[in-house]
Amino acid sequence: MYQDVFDRNPFGTNCWLLGADGSEDAVLVDPGFEPDELRAVLERARRRPTAILLTHAHLDHAYAAGVLAGDDLPVFVHEADAVAFDDIEGWNPGFDNPLEPVKDLRRIVDGDQLSFAGMSIGVRHTPGHTPGHCCFVTDATVVAGDLVFAGSIGRSDFPNSSPEAMRASLRWFLTLDDADDVLPGHGPRSTVGRERASNPFLVNVA
Ligand SMILES: [Zn+2]
Repeated sequence: MYQDVFDRNPFGTNCWLLGADGSEDAVLVDPGFEPDELRAVLERARRRPTAILLTHAHLDHAYAAGVLAGDDLPVFVHEADAVAFDDIEGWNPGFDNPLEPVKDLRRIVDGDQLSFAGMSIGVRHTPGHTPGHCCFVTDATVVAGDLVFAGSIGRSDFPNSSPEAMRASLRWFLTLDDADDVLPGHGPRSTVGRERASNPFLVNVA
């Protein structure tokens, strides 16, 4: 599988660029802030962007999705976080940084299966960090957003966070295979097995 990551932005958010071997297309997960540089990465890789997926609607993951998408690309986000594009203050009080508007916003839910760039991508609703946080699962790889990082987990202390939902989502993470790759929303990549063995925040969620 083609995998690249772009993280040169003020929050160190990982934008994952993914596609099947042999495909000329790519999917972008969490484009963050730098649409022009992301286009350059894809041009070098000779990949054409076909869709943008958002693990959640926080600014550092979703800000430039609308700019990058323009008129052509669909942007996929869970229905519970799609609200942020219409009413970010209502979605998360006090977290009122506006997002760039998205023309073709597609609302996804748990269990959806998306097909792009030669891949079949499963949508797993993993609320807690935000109400509509999702992980994307494809080819023994989980794009984990702000659910699990190498050695840490996402915050669940925003006004619209839920620590209880977070625990349930972490329990789901622990059902994955040890060999599965973890592509987190911030920081270095990992595997499920490594996090199960060494992540102190996963010890007491079972
Ligand atoms: Zn976040």
